[in-house]
Amino acid sequence: MTPGTPRRRAALAVLLFVAVALASFGCFAVNFPAPEMPGRVIEPRRTPGPKQSLRPQRRTPPGRPTATSTSTSCEYPDQNPKLYVPWQPIDSYLRLTAKNTESLGTYIPSDLEDLGSSYSIRSGEPGMLRREAAASFRKMVAAAAADGVTIRLVSGYRSCWTQRVVFQNHVLTMGLEQAQRFSARPGQSEHQLGLAADIGGPSTGYSLTQSFGDTAEGTWLRHNAWNFGFVLSYPNGKEKTTGYAYEPWHWRFIGDWKLAKAFNESGKTLYAWLLEKGN
Ligand SMILES: [Zn+2]
Repeated sequence: MTPGTPRRRAALAVLLFVAVALASFGCFAVNFPAPEMPGRVIEPRRTPGPKQSLRPQRRTPPGRPTATSTSTSCEYPDQNPKLYVPWQPIDSYLRLTAKNTESLGTYIPSDLEDLGSSYSIRSGEPGMLRREAAASFRKMVAAAAADGVTIRLVSGYRSCWTQRVVFQNHVLTMGLEQAQRFSARPGQSEHQLGLAADIGGPSTGYSLTQSFGDTAEGTWLRHNAWNFGFVLSYPNGKEKTTGYAYEPWHWRFIGDWKLAKAFNESGKTLYAWLLEKGN
């Protein structure tokens, strides 16, 4: 058979197609978990998904100074721009955000709500949660009070600009390595989702310390928070999977008590569990 025969040309065409397909796949391969979070290898997505629609919304926060409002990014300078892109929509209660996920950008939830001084020790940004999370939080505070336990929101919503300041301050006071054990880089915080509540109580003077976990308030939350759709994101001894040190005060709203119950019964970290929930 000579090189010019139809059969040979067809074989060459197939080879060429396979080569192009392989090259294209390499271009679209999604990144993998950061080394400090080896919980599970995330396979690159092989089928076209709703990835485009999940891109962070680029919205300007109301009332921001001009210098900040014109900024389209609030990422920390060393932030890796090529990270895993979760599939859950950015406003899903099950959206994953972690050290190895793509930045939430300048996303601001559209349904943030002020909890008010009866439920939060601070006003403004930190006194806010998304509407359903806020409603559930109020019920939780009331239920705790009925059991003789006082809990309050210490820090709720945090914009990516605020998160950048928080992270930078941690870096300045404790160095980068320690800072990233306790604080998320801007664009990767559950607080930016409006679904994370740092909760405190009088036993620790509303300060967010690991000893909070052993107080009456911390214990009450461990037993009851799931009834209100709140779960612990960063439990003790799971830093290798979650990427963060133990934070007994940081509770994440995931939608409702049924999901929270299922999560608690799974025995998994929230990071691993959310990955299985379509992220
Ligand atoms: Zn927190």
